[in-house]
Amino acid sequence: MPQRACFLLLAVLAAGAAGIHLTGPSVGPALPPHAIDGNGVMGMPLERYLWLQGIYPVTGVCAGGQCIDWEEAAYRSLWEIPVLMLPGQGIDAFGRRIDAGYVAVATAPRPELSILDVAPTVCGALGLPGRFDGKPVCRVNASQVVVIYVDGLGWYRYEKERPAMKNLSSLGPAAACCVYPSISNVNGAAMLTGDCPERSGVDRWENRTILVDDAIDLALRHGVSAAWIDGPRPPVSLRGGIVRVADTNGDGNFDDEIADRAIAEHQNGVRLLYVHLAETDRTLHESGLYSAQSRAAAVRADARIGRLLGRLRPGTLALVVADHGGHAIAGGRGDHGSLLPEDMLVPFAARVVTMNSCEMYLN
Ligand SMILES: [Zn+2]
Repeated sequence: MPQRACFLLLAVLAAGAAGIHLTGPSVGPALPPHAIDGNGVMGMPLERYLWLQGIYPVTGVCAGGQCIDWEEAAYRSLWEIPVLMLPGQGIDAFGRRIDAGYVAVATAPRPELSILDVAPTVCGALGLPGRFDGKPVCRVNASQVVVIYVDGLGWYRYEKERPAMKNLSSLGPAAACCVYPSISNVNGAAMLTGDCPERSGVDRWENRTILVDDAIDLALRHGVSAAWIDGPRPPVSLRGGIVRVADTNGDGNFDDEIADRAIAEHQNGVRLLYVHLAETDRTLHESGLYSAQSRAAAVRADARIGRLLGRLRPGTLALVVADHGGHAIAGGRGDHGSLLPEDMLVPFAARVVTMNSCEMYLN
C-alpha cells in the first residue's frame, strides 16, 4: 500500500538521534514557565523541553554516561517520565542528580501528518476562515463533515488490530503525530483549534480553558450548524455545541448512544460533527493495550465507525483520528502522556463519501 511504503520511507529518513547542550543561557531562563516541583526539586520536565525543541518521539536519553531506556521508564512511571532539567546544568532522573553538559536523545520516525491538521482540513472543507498551525490534508468542498475521534487508539495498536478493524483500514489511514502531552484534553483542543498547545493554552492536564476560534466555534459564529457529541465528561470545554448523551440502554458504555446521536444529527443536516468514542481509552487504562477487553473494544469501535460511515450522506467529508496512543505500565494496565512513539503516533484517515476524491498528502 502506498501510504505504508511512504511511512516506511519516513521511518528510514527520520529515525535518529539529537542532542541538547545543557550549558549556556538557553536552559536556565527557559525554566520558570514550565517548572514543576518534583519531590522538592524544581525543574522543567525534560519531555516538555524536548517537545518545545521539536525533538520527538523519544525512545531513549543518555546523559553523564548514563542511559535511560524511555520505554522502561514509562513502564515504571505514570504519565510523565520523572526526568527534570535543573536550572543551569544537570538533570534529575528519578530523584538522582546527574551532572551533564550534553544530553543525547534517541528519536523514532516522525510522520508528516499531525493532529493539528484536523481543524484546517475541516474548516477548509466547510469554507470557514481561520489561522492554524496545522495544514489541510486535502482540499475539498464538503456539504457536511464528520470527525470520528477514537480515544486512545494509537498507530501501533491500530496496526496490530488492523485485520479486525476492517472499516477503519478500508479508509487507508496514515500515521500522524499528536501533540505533547499525549493526553485527551490537550489533543482534543489541538484537533479543534489546529493550534499547538503553547498557542491554544491547553498544554497540560489541569488546563480546561474554554476554546475560542476552534472549528466548532468558527462554524457556529458563521451560521454553520455544528456539535461535539460525547458522554457526560467531554475532554474539551467549548463556548457552545457540546451534546452529552445518556447511557439509555444502561450498559455502562456511552459510545453506542454517541454513534446513534451522531447519525441522527448528521441526517438532520448538522454540517459539522466531532464524535468522541471513548471506550478504547477506558480499556487501555484498565487492562492494557492488548487485553481481550481492549481488543474487543477496538473491534466495537470499528463497528461504530462502519455504522457511522454507512449512514453518511453523499458529499460528506469523513475524518477518523485518535488523540493519542498508549503504552504498557506495571500491573497489566496502560497509560499515555509521554513522548514515546507508542503514545505520540495515531492513525488519521480522510475520505469524501461516494466521491472518493479526498487524497491525503502522504497517500
Ligand atoms: Zn486516557
